[in-house]
Amino acid sequence: MNTSDYLIVGSSHAALEAMAAIRLADPEGSLTVLTRDRHLPYSPTLLPYVVSGRSAPAKAVLRDAAFFAGQHIRFERGAPVAAVRPEAHEVALEDGTAWHYGKLLLATGATPVVPAIAGLDSVRFHRLRTLDDSLALREAIGTARRAVVLGAGLIGMHAAENLAEAGIAVTVIEPRDQVLPSYFDAEAAAMIAASFAAHGVVFRTGRSAVAVAPDGAGSRVTLDDGAVLEADLLLVATGVRADLGYLAGAAIATDRGILVDATMQTSAPGIWAAGDVAEAPVFPGPGTALAGILPEAVAQGRTAGMAMAGDPALAPYRGSVPRNTYCFFGQSAISVGTGVAGAPPEGAELATRHDANAGAYWRIALKDDRLLGIAAVNLPLDAGILHEMILRRVDLGPVRDRFLDQPRATGRMLMSRQWR
Ligand SMILES: Cc1cc2nc3c(=O)[nH]c(=O)nc-3n(C[C@H](O)[C@H](O)[C@H](O)COP(=O)(O)OP(=O)(O)OC[C@H]3O[C@@H](n4cnc5c(N)ncnc54)[C@H](O)[C@@H]3O)c2cc1C
Repeated sequence: MNTSDYLIVGSSHAALEAMAAIRLADPEGSLTVLTRDRHLPYSPTLLPYVVSGRSAPAKAVLRDAAFFAGQHIRFERGAPVAAVRPEAHEVALEDGTAWHYGKLLLATGATPVVPAIAGLDSVRFHRLRTLDDSLALREAIGTARRAVVLGAGLIGMHAAENLAEAGIAVTVIEPRDQVLPSYFDAEAAAMIAASFAAHGVVFRTGRSAVAVAPDGAGSRVTLDDGAVLEADLLLVATGVRADLGYLAGAAIATDRGILVDATMQTSAPGIWAAGDVAEAPVFPGPGTALAGILPEAVAQGRTAGMAMAGDPALAPYRGSVPRNTYCFFGQSAISVGTGVAGAPPEGAELATRHDANAGAYWRIALKDDRLLGIAAVNLPLDAGILHEMILRRVDLGPVRDRFLDQPRATGRMLMSRQWR
């Protein structure tokens, strides 16, 4: 039987960070990576640029074969794990191959949700999660003139921008009343949407697709107000979920993801989980969440790797804080923390500011003079500094108004004192 001291399932950000942490603490133990992807590890965040052609597929690659050879890591691609048997310390691939492990990391990420829309399974539609998805989209762009994108979240918006840049007439359907509802308030979202509209993108917010039917090589999308849109290219970007099918029957606690503690340990001895598949503690707690962002996948992967290798420098994971920087048509937006999109939490205080000259807008949520979150359009901010201010619960009382008016300069000043 195949056997490995450390076995990692998945080959993306969380997995790569765990590998590095394991190798730092244990250069000798056998380490194997199993991934269902047929490619070398790559960053999903770069896929919109592969779609547009701004990035060659090879540029999205994060580690090459020489890296694995140099680190004495066995890298098995095209190896989808179909079952985990914690009691036997074994995983099984789809083809029946079994692997015995000493310690196991599950870093299998997230998978696009396919919504229950009548007729969707009768047409060709695209998703954007894997390198193969982006290559298929790139090919489809070659002949498409009209595209419909379902979902105005980050992935739908990234894709819509790149499709529009390729000269395609794009319509985005979003059931909520605004674009990017998880990250921005209505005013910031309207600024972002206006920039898209100036580049020809049409939004149908507050509307849902209720039926899809084939139409030649493309499809016809019917909305809940009866409107019918014709699409040569249909992209489904309605969210992601952790795919836990391979854990069926395994005694590992799950909810929306694999439940882990602050060292990324699951309920099963010898098994850790990290990244988009892990349901980890949130900051400040209580509670757990699927973080779904790259920096948390990296932090969780590092924590898991250190814990697996018994690194004495292991510090508990501090809990996830949402943070996204977002560039669109040469402009920028950022959303860090909570309380700035949707209804603010109880007791939170909201402040909004405009800088008409810079075309900038920002909104800040405070509670007890501590930063809960900040979202901004066209205002340069340091995501890392804001993240630390939230985690350290920096007291903004003495500089409150200054921070609201000049969050970047004030945040830098405060954190330079803390870091000194
Ligand atoms: C288009 C796009 C843009 C994004 N932009 C941003 C951004 O701007 N900022 C940000 O913070 N985040 C962004 N994200 C999200 C970010 O990419 C993820 O948070 C991050 O990739 C999560 O890393 P991960 O290692 O947990 O999992 P993933 O990147 O999802 O990788 C999962 C890995 O597991 C493998 N796998 C899955 N199932 C199995 C199985 N059964 N057997 C074997 N292998 C398996 C896959 O092949 C893959 O290697 C974006 C995502 C996409 C798709």
